[in-house]
Amino acid sequence: MVDIQITYQCNNNCLSCIIPEKVYCCEEVNKEKIRGLLKEKNYSVITIGGGEPSIDPEFFDLVNFASENNPDAEIKILSNGRFFFYEESVKKLLEIIKNMNNIFSVNISLYGTEKVHENITRSKNSFEQTFKGVKNLIDAGIRLNLRIVVIKQNYKNLTGLAELIVEELDSIDRIIFISARYKGKAEDNIEKVGISYDESVKHVQKAVDILQEDFDGSIRLYHFPICVLNPSYRDFAEGLTKESGGVTFLDSCFKCNYKSDCSGIWRSYLDKFGVKEFRPLDT
Ligand code: SF4
Repeated sequence: MVDIQITYQCNNNCLSCIIPEKVYCCEEVNKEKIRGLLKEKNYSVITIGGGEPSIDPEFFDLVNFASENNPDAEIKILSNGRFFFYEESVKKLLEIIKNMNNIFSVNISLYGTEKVHENITRSKNSFEQTFKGVKNLIDAGIRLNLRIVVIKQNYKNLTGLAELIVEELDSIDRIIFISARYKGKAEDNIEKVGISYDESVKHVQKAVDILQEDFDGSIRLYHFPICVLNPSYRDFAEGLTKESGGVTFLDSCFKCNYKSDCSGIWRSYLDKFGVKEFRPLDT
């Protein structure tokens, strides 16, 4: 499994972005190093992200290269989706993936309904482009997942977003609510964007309720420690891959019956909100 950032630049400027400002504005990615990494071994999963990977001139070439050198890997693109507003972009992507045997998906970040989304992306028209991009990819039959990072600016809008998804979007494979990691710009903005599980989880759970009524795909809760969820929502968070860095467990976690299924707690969350919400579970 490998995560590759092919650029640090982006056409959004999200409050919750984990790339530091000085990297986002000015650093370049060495593409030859990336090609070397992609040739190194047969990966089971390759995630291609950024920044925004689709704005990089070598985007399609690198997707192709990843596939040619890893024919059995699952390939996931992480994108803000704006590029796929343009039908030619979707056509070009289809041309490339029709020759692949890989399981392929596009994973798009959507934060909320229009005003809320653009308050976070700080980019005018980004909602219209992302939402149309999602629809274009679905119409083209490309496997699509939505990623919803939960921060102070959108947690109360999650139910509104869930209603919009149910009303307007069909055939999404997976919807993933992601507990924010306060790193990079998100760390710089933590006083503005930070939200505790005490405040956010009930809204996440209500959004899950709405989706469960009408949505056929899977729903996942990434990086929500299992003890902050009501028992009937724990299945959505269990058994997810743990991050190699950035998360931790408390001493008390070692007494918890859910530890092997829990993704742990972001260290950056503990720095801001402390340990009071976490308690070992015995059932
Ligand atoms: S007590 Fe620790 S291991 Fe158990 S669910 Fe909470 S964070 Fe996870």
